[in-house]
Amino acid sequence: MTYTVAVRTLCEFTAKQGDLDLRFTPSATALEGMAGHAMVAARRGEHYETEVWLTGRYRDLVVRGRADGFDPDAGRLEEVKTYRGDLHAMPQNRRSLHWAQARCYGALLCAERGLDKLDIALVYYDVNSQDETLLVETCTAADLRAFLDQQCERFLAWSAQETAHRVARDAALAALPFPHAHFRTGQRELAENVYKAAILGRTLMAQAPTGIGKTVGTLFPQLKAMPRQKLDKLYFLAAKTPGRALAMAALRTITAPHRAQPDTADALNDGAVVDAAPRRTPLRVIELVAREKACEHPAKACHGDSCPLARGFYDRLPAARQAAVGATPTDAPPLDRAGLRAVALAHEVCPYYLAQELVRWADVVVGDYNYYFDLGGMLHFHAQAEEWRVGVLVDEAHNLVPRAREMYSATLSRAALDGARPRAPATVAPALKRLARTCNEIVGRQLEPYAVHDELPQGLLTALQNLNSAIGDHAAVHPEDVPPELLQFWFDTLHFTRLAESFGTHSLFDVTIADDAQRDVTLCLRNLVPASFLKQRFLGARTTTLFSATLTPMHFHADLLGLPPDTAWVDVASPFDAAQLRVQVAPLSTRYAHRPASLAPIVDLMARQFTDAPGNYLAFFSSFDYLDQVADLFRALHPEVPVWTQARQMTEGARADFLERFQVGGRGIGFAVLGGAFAEAVDLPGRRLIGAFIATLGLPQVNPVNEQMKARLETLFGAGHDYTYLFPGLQKVVQAAGRVIRTTTDQGVVYLIDDRFRRAEVRRLLPSWWHVPGA
Ligand code: SF4
Repeated sequence: MTYTVAVRTLCEFTAKQGDLDLRFTPSATALEGMAGHAMVAARRGEHYETEVWLTGRYRDLVVRGRADGFDPDAGRLEEVKTYRGDLHAMPQNRRSLHWAQARCYGALLCAERGLDKLDIALVYYDVNSQDETLLVETCTAADLRAFLDQQCERFLAWSAQETAHRVARDAALAALPFPHAHFRTGQRELAENVYKAAILGRTLMAQAPTGIGKTVGTLFPQLKAMPRQKLDKLYFLAAKTPGRALAMAALRTITAPHRAQPDTADALNDGAVVDAAPRRTPLRVIELVAREKACEHPAKACHGDSCPLARGFYDRLPAARQAAVGATPTDAPPLDRAGLRAVALAHEVCPYYLAQELVRWADVVVGDYNYYFDLGGMLHFHAQAEEWRVGVLVDEAHNLVPRAREMYSATLSRAALDGARPRAPATVAPALKRLARTCNEIVGRQLEPYAVHDELPQGLLTALQNLNSAIGDHAAVHPEDVPPELLQFWFDTLHFTRLAESFGTHSLFDVTIADDAQRDVTLCLRNLVPASFLKQRFLGARTTTLFSATLTPMHFHADLLGLPPDTAWVDVASPFDAAQLRVQVAPLSTRYAHRPASLAPIVDLMARQFTDAPGNYLAFFSSFDYLDQVADLFRALHPEVPVWTQARQMTEGARADFLERFQVGGRGIGFAVLGGAFAEAVDLPGRRLIGAFIATLGLPQVNPVNEQMKARLETLFGAGHDYTYLFPGLQKVVQAAGRVIRTTTDQGVVYLIDDRFRRAEVRRLLPSWWHVPGA
């Protein structure tokens, strides 16, 4: 059985040594990099071959890759690297890596074209001066072949282990039994649809109610489909930390040592023979956590002169990597946050960068949305570069629209610009001054506190690009001499520039002047429709399932996310009965102007319900102000009822305390905001929560930004109001109400407090299993 490896991966495995060092990063942007490669190619003439695909073999190893360029007239193969700053500052281990890649390509080229010798060149292209630095060596084909063979030889033991793991993994997944005695109601339907989508290589939107076991119901079929679809990896992407924790727990359950039950060798087992011996599924699962949380030395910088876990990182990496994947397919340690940390510290390497390395060798990667969907999403980048076949699961997918909007938006504030100027180096100061002048010109023409521009103002992009170059040049030569406020502002301008380069109807460019004494100015590239960015992400996956309890209506998500036209849709029926949930509509007006008048009736309604059925309740409001007003009045009129409230800023401990009060036999009302931390992913089954009061339709505030969004979405989709206000609002309402009924034995009540809940267009968006009086 052969194992295929990319030249880049092979060399990073065999030829990387020494320290981890992020100081010299060729900070050319992707566009600059592409332009640099094109410029080099253009200088060589028509005979020059670019992107030369090469493949070769060493024993059971297939090595493939794409050399940047070949000049047949000169007999020279070129590996092009774009950079800015001082080339001499590049660490030696990075240069060695570049040589290793070039020599491997050279060996493959000589073999394919029957060449006896070849010039190998590293072409370092300075994106500022557009100068090239050429490092050339002349090699015989025999020397190059010997070099490639040596790299392959070093990799063979690992590739043999990987092949054995893949065989064992796929065999185990094909025979994987469902981890519980039975599917829950609705769980089988969900699992079958996920499996089908995976087998057909399609995207699926799955709306499935709370309580049916969505995490296992999506992971299990996706894992079962991996062998048949020859999937290399599965990415489980979560919006929040609890989602990751649930996925890790579900994967532990699925891969735990098991003995298959004949009655659970169901349709999803696809006819495979189930092994009766209990055994652990050989599946490598890794959890990615943010750098701030994984870092062991937050006060240090990521290079060997500062951080002991970066010093000699690549020298100790092979042992850490081997320990992480285990000696045999079934003895890999669990690589959640704690497991990864333990392996990393045992081998004195950085846990964060060890996790990045292990993504290559993992079967399942559990991480935040941004690792795949963000502009520089690492998981997407790897999948493209390594040509992996990946399956993607998107947990709580109703969060993807707002999260993606954040990912593809950028802001620059004048306060941050002013803060970066005083300590800026002399070579950077003029570029900061020019950007400040450009901002002043933009603001000088603006009379209102908020204005939207159809196009990016003249000169802004140029000023930003100049500034990025100036800081980049300085940072490359003096990496230790970049004040933190300048560094942060540089990150902001880089992100802003990248998005500015692709500005279009999917985004607004707006300028806000603060209405206070400081009168700070904020320039914002505000993404409204992330579809054009995310489209490539969905195309880059073999199959994607987006799942949540609230994905209605489908076209809203499909339009805004850029889902493929053949995306399948399943709406799994709820296992709950209308008799379990008493839904009441309180026909009050909670419109902004009527809120003062609504306080007393809401308090009265809550008190009556509490008296009739004492227990634990949640009360949701559209804002903290509204929440505080109702809570204050409630406390004043009913001091005997325990009340606790969500605060604007809450630590993890304070959140846990809030939820801790919902105990069986407890009594009281927790006040929270719609769309907040307690309105979704909170599980309070049985008597821990017996009812919810939901005031307002959860509609986003009417303000200039949302009105602009409404106008743009009306133009693009003919549904400005619904896409801006109604659908996001009702999604929050249904999520909040979903806290009440968690199991088929739960009983509860939900009060929908607003007269608009009587309208047909609103009721259509409520779960179909509810019985809403008057419907
Ligand atoms: S431990 Fe922290 S400072 Fe050290 S390399 Fe890792 S992330 Fe960087």
